[in-house]
Amino acid sequence: MIKLKTEEDLVLIRENAILVSKTLAEVGRHIVPGITTKELDLIAEKYIRSFGAEPGFLGYGGFPYTLCMSVNEVVVHGFPSDYKLKEGDIVSVDCGTVYKGFNGDSAYTFPVGNVSKETQALLDATKASLYKGIEKAVAGGRIGDIGYAVQSYVEPLGFSVVREMVGHGIGRNLHESPEVPNYGRHGRGVKLQEGMVICIEPMINAGVKDVYLDDNGWGVITQDHKNSAHFELMVAVKHGTPEVLSTFEFIENNK
Ligand code: MG
Ligand code: MG
Repeated sequence: MIKLKTEEDLVLIRENAILVSKTLAEVGRHIVPGITTKELDLIAEKYIRSFGAEPGFLGYGGFPYTLCMSVNEVVVHGFPSDYKLKEGDIVSVDCGTVYKGFNGDSAYTFPVGNVSKETQALLDATKASLYKGIEKAVAGGRIGDIGYAVQSYVEPLGFSVVREMVGHGIGRNLHESPEVPNYGRHGRGVKLQEGMVICIEPMINAGVKDVYLDDNGWGVITQDHKNSAHFELMVAVKHGTPEVLSTFEFIENNK
């Protein structure tokens, strides 16, 4: 069942969206070669709690950390660890918040120092595909329009779309209906209506689309061990123009 949000709900969801956006920027400020992903996780947890909010992922389904830290060939759901980030790595930082009874959830893939041209192209394409998807989050359209927009943008560039993991509705629960795949067909799927709040989160691979599950039961890894990128924003479906609730501006205006 899809829970449509009221304007009062949206006020609280926006607060989470901004908090999660600022947390990603706070983490980003500390991403340098040599820092461990576990150190970054603690920075995020402290930051979120300093606002009286809670980390949304910690304990969710048994997930043991504040952040999903997915380095290079890890697509999503990587565990923070003692791994020291190094020049040329990319790291998807996925963060959730719970504040005033609602959830926030967004992700950004950061380059560590200088990355190869090929890797930068993957990051650029994945982020651009997210905005292509967002454009389609309008009332009257269909969920398939979003996935089609993402897929038809990245595939001609030689990249592939992960099928196993998808975006989702968000509200009082982190994961609500509907599912928001990053592939699909125009005009297919659930009808989009005002009041829906969704997370659009393309997971795009440099090589094959296939993935497997890490031995820890969480990490999702590319079958060919080539890089994967992941960007996620929260969007309220509206008539005409969608409202993008979370933002990368705190990250990108910081540089
Ligand atoms: Mg999500
Ligand atoms: Mg997320």
